[in-house]
Amino acid sequence: MAPRKLAAGNWKMNGTLAALAEIDRVLAQPAGCDVLICPPATLIQAVAAKGIATGGQDCHAKPSGAHTGDIAAGQLKDVGASHVILGHSERRTDHAETDAQVAAKATAAHEAGLVAVICVGETEAQRDAGQTLDVISAQLAGSVPDCATAANTVIAYEPVWAIGTGRTPTNDQIAEVHALMRDRLAARFADGADFALLYGGSVKPGNAAEIFAIPHVNGALVGGASLKASDFGPIVAAL
Ligand code: PGA
Repeated sequence: MAPRKLAAGNWKMNGTLAALAEIDRVLAQPAGCDVLICPPATLIQAVAAKGIATGGQDCHAKPSGAHTGDIAAGQLKDVGASHVILGHSERRTDHAETDAQVAAKATAAHEAGLVAVICVGETEAQRDAGQTLDVISAQLAGSVPDCATAANTVIAYEPVWAIGTGRTPTNDQIAEVHALMRDRLAARFADGADFALLYGGSVKPGNAAEIFAIPHVNGALVGGASLKASDFGPIVAAL
C-alpha cells in the first residue's frame, strides 16, 4: 500500500466561527488527496460537521483527570476529530515538550482511535552545526511510539527555521531528510514504507508542486497558507 497523499492545514491559534467559510471554498474544489484541517479546539466540532477530516493540535497523554486547560485524545474524537498534531515545534518550545511526552501523547491518540501527526525538525543552529540527520533520527526514535503503524501515524518534517519564515530548505535538503525518515521507519516498522511523510514550513501555492515532486514527500503540513482558501486551495490542487 503506497502512502496516502495528505494536505493538512494547521490553523494554530487562529480562526473563529467566521473562518469556517474558507473551508467551504476549499471543499468546493475537487481534491485528489486527503484534506485535513486542524483548527483551534473550539472549532473542531463545526469543522467536522462540514464532512471534512479534522483534528486537534495537541492532546494530553492521560484519558481524563485533573489537568486544567488540557484536552484528552478521546475528547477530540468525541467531537469528530480523526487526527491530532503532536510534537509541533511550537509545543516543544512553548511548553517544553520532550520526545518521551510526544510518544506518550501519540500512544494516547492511538488508544482513542486518532491518527497521530507527529512533527520533527531541526533548529537553524542544529542544521548549521551539521546535526540535522542525527536530530531527526533521535526525534523519530523518541517521539514515535512502538504502537505506530502506517494507518495510525503520519510524520511531518518541519524544520523549525522554515516555519512561518518564508524560508524553505532546498529540494535536496528535503529529499535527504525524507529519505532518512523512510529508512528509519522501514527499519523499525513492518509497514514503515507506507507511513505518509509530510513536509511543513512555509509551503505556499508557489512552491507546493515543486515540493510534492520530491521523493518520499507524500503531502504537506501547512500553517499560514492554510488559513485562506485562496492559498490552501491551490496547495491541495498541487498534491
Ligand atoms: P507555516 O507553518 O506553513 O506557516 O510555515 C507550518 C507549521 O507550523 O505547521
